[in-house]
Formats: sequence, structure tokens, C-alpha cells
Amino acid sequence: MSVNHDRRRVLSGLAVATAFSILSPFARSAGIDYPFTLGVASGDPLPDGFVIWTRLAPLFNAADGRGGLSRAVSVRWKVASDAAMMRVVRQGEVIASERFAHSVHVEVAGLEAGRPYWYQFEGLGAQSPVGQSRTAPAVHAMACAQLGFVSCSHWERGYFSAYRHLAAERPDLVFFLGDYIYDSSYAADSGKIVRPHGSGNALSLVDYRNRYALYKTDPDLQALHAAAPSVVTWDDHEVQNDYANQWSQDPNIPVASFLKQRAAAYQAFYEHMPLRASSLPRGPDMRIYRRLDYGRLARFHVLDGRQYRSEQPCILANRSHKGHIAANTCADLRDPRRTMLGWEQEAWLDQGFAESRAQWNVIAQDLLVAPLTQRDLTNHKPGRWTDGWDGYMANRERMLASIARRKVNNPVFWGGDIHSFWVNDLHANGGDLDSPVVATEFVGTSVTSDGPPFDAFSAILPLNPHVKFFDSRQRGYVSVALEEKNMLTHLRVISDPRDPNASVSTLKSFVVEPGRAGAIAV
Ligand code: FE
Ligand code: CA
Repeated sequence: MSVNHDRRRVLSGLAVATAFSILSPFARSAGIDYPFTLGVASGDPLPDGFVIWTRLAPLFNAADGRGGLSRAVSVRWKVASDAAMMRVVRQGEVIASERFAHSVHVEVAGLEAGRPYWYQFEGLGAQSPVGQSRTAPAVHAMACAQLGFVSCSHWERGYFSAYRHLAAERPDLVFFLGDYIYDSSYAADSGKIVRPHGSGNALSLVDYRNRYALYKTDPDLQALHAAAPSVVTWDDHEVQNDYANQWSQDPNIPVASFLKQRAAAYQAFYEHMPLRASSLPRGPDMRIYRRLDYGRLARFHVLDGRQYRSEQPCILANRSHKGHIAANTCADLRDPRRTMLGWEQEAWLDQGFAESRAQWNVIAQDLLVAPLTQRDLTNHKPGRWTDGWDGYMANRERMLASIARRKVNNPVFWGGDIHSFWVNDLHANGGDLDSPVVATEFVGTSVTSDGPPFDAFSAILPLNPHVKFFDSRQRGYVSVALEEKNMLTHLRVISDPRDPNASVSTLKSFVVEPGRAGAIAV
């Protein structure tokens, strides 16, 4: 694909045109198109800095996964205290190497706490769009924050208007909770494709790179990343549907070859996300669970629900790891030797709860946490979805017990994966609805992916009285205004994922008050 001038115009209109220009964006090196086709991003803010990201790819879908480049490229970066990039406060030069697909991850430090900054890259004779970021508040500051979270953006199912409307809210920080890309593609005759991936299921490093690159060309996605720093974690589709640790959902794929696929997928994730060097992939392993403190207002505990988990419980005779509804009587569901987070991450989370002095403790992760009694679609017997937290009940009980034992201030869980909104009470003893409510849960709907059937899920709500709200009929995102004494959460919906100009509205809003777990509809 050649340079998309229209898209660039949209982006430079969104960012602020640079007032001085050492290198004109049009003074290209001979034969090389505009390299910043994938936009810019920033993330993981600290009080004195953040990561800035870009990836140079003049041909984003080059068949060899190299983005149209064949050698290392020198890239200049700068951070300014004004949107016009006049007052540059930090700058430098890095080498974008082939090893990580000419991606750039600069950990900027030495900045002032709790304020906006702007950043821009230059390379191959061109300038990137300008992105806006923001440092975290000072350690002891009690600030306010405008936040958002999103999940499940399947390119083929529509346009990312949810991202555009969230960007327009000018959030301070945005959380991506998984299924940022989909590894899998719909069949051409499925009737599902609004815009095609143009390639099949991702397996190799080239496949994953080009899938991320395709998604990164989306102007709404670029607008959101350019508008605010982000914090990213993953779910399954960054690798493969319903994978667990080293196991493919397909029992015919040996562990060794699945780990090669996981290594490729994790590397491509790193290459396309504003992550710190602490998340550099090492073979099939990559550390993405981490904490971010937002002054005294909030501590964000960001979890990895995929890399370290035990196999799904109650595995069927065909050995498939694909999630299914297992009978409530399956003992595996409650086996205390099984873990969702892995033992190290469980201990790390318990420690993070113990040490937190924040007013709010947000657990940002991929899945629905609340127990959910469902019905087997064939025999209608009550059961549990094995791929989610219901398949790892003992871990859930340990986590909620840790919250109670550590007297964690105002714990609120955020999640995705289920392509629908859920607002839930989380009880101390997961399955025991007579035990006290210890935490609040908000699950966001998908950006585009299909929701579960509304009528079938509405029918199980009487079995699940801890569910305060459910809706699966619309796509969207969640925005959160966080203050010391109040958390105001809006469930936002877009008019139609098939419409690139979809409008936005608020489906429902909820308040959480300090000292009182559970959301209140407003
Ligand atoms: Fe999804
Ligand atoms: Ca998922």
C-alpha cells in the first residue's frame, strides 16, 4: 500500500502542526514512502516520565513483515511542554533495528509530575504525527483522573468508533484490556466481514506483525493513542482463542510448536505497544503484569490472565482447551492446586494489595471475575464457563480473601473478553452470596466483536443476583471519572460498528462511593 495522504492529513489535523521543521515530511529518502504509517503512542506513566512508541513501516503489510525496510534506521525523538513542540524539554536519538521490526520504545524520564507533554519522532526524512501524553501525579498528590477502558476490537467486524469517541473525551489514561487484535479471520462467505483482514489466521512472526500493523493503520485507533497514554494487557486473541499458558486450544498442536507461536505473538505485541524494557520478550516469555501508581488517588494492578494459568478445568475427552460450560459438579472447577495467574503473580498481587496506600485499587485485567451460573445449551443443566475465572475458582477465592485480609481500600475490578457490559458485586467467598460484598466489578463491552445472545444471558440473571446490570446488544467502551470521594462510571455505546461515522451515547452510569463496595445506578 502506498502513502495514504488523506489519513495523514486527518492525523496532522488532530495533532498540532509543528511550528518548526528541520526535516520536511515530504523530503523523503530516495524511494522510501512516509514511514510513520502506524502512528505514535505513549504509555505506562510514572511521575517523571512515560514510554513513547512508534514503528517505522513505509509498507505496513510488506510480505516479509519488515514494513518495507531492510536496514536499521536512526530515529530522533523529542518531548515538549507545549502542543506546538516549541519548548523541547527532552530529546535524543535511537536506532530502530530489524530485530524488533523498527519499533521505537523510549523511556522518557526527568519530567514534571501530573501534567501533559507532547512528543514527536523524525526518521527517514519525515516527521511523525505529534502525540499527547501525561505524567502520573506526584507520589503524595491526591489528583482527579479521567480514565477509559476498552477491549475486543475485531477489525473485520467493523470500525473503531469507540476509540474515536473515547479519544474525544481527552482522557488522562486509557486501559486496553485484551483482544487488541484478533489472530483469527472470518471465512470470506461468513457474512461477517465489514472490512477484511486480507489474510488468514496468524501463526508466524510475520503474520502477527502484519496483523498489528493493519490494526495500527486505523485512524480512530491512532487518534486514541495520540490523545492519551495507555496501559495495555492482553487476553487470548493476541495469540490464539482460549489458549492457556503453553497449550493451544487445538489438542493436535504440540506444546513445543505452540510455544513458538506464543513467542512470535508476544514479540509482535511488544513491538507494537508502548511498553518498558521490563516487558522485553525472552523467547516465549514476557512479563506484562505490573503496577502503576496514580499519586494517592489510585493504584492500578495490571494482570496477565493467560501466560501462567493451569489448563482449563474439566477438559473434554477430545483434549480440546476451548472453553465450554462444565457441570457445576465438576470437581476440577474448585481444585485449589489450579491457578489462573500462576503462583508468582498471585503472590505479587497479594503483596501489591498489602502495600497499597491508595484510595482506590483498580484491578485491570482481561476477564469477567464474578461467578456466573450459566446453562448448558443442550441439557440446560447449570454450569460454569471453563475459560474464565469460573474455571479457576480457588484462585478467585484466594484473590478476594487477600483483598479482605489486606484491608484493601476500595477495590474495583475492570475486565473485558465477554463482549458485553456487566456490573457486579463481588462477594468475599466467591460462590457464597450471603458473604459480604468486598469489591465492585465493571466489565466493558467490545469495541466491535459480536456480543453473546442477549435473551439467553438475560434468562440466567435470576440465577445470579449479584449481577446489577447486564447488556450485550451494543458495542462501545467505558469511561470513568475518578475522584478521592467518588468513582463515576459511564457505559458508552456507539450507534453501529458498521458505520465509520457512528455516534456515541451513554447507556447507563454508576457511582461507587469510598468505603462501600458495590455500584449504585445513577
Ligand atoms: Fe474478544
Ligand atoms: Ca477473549
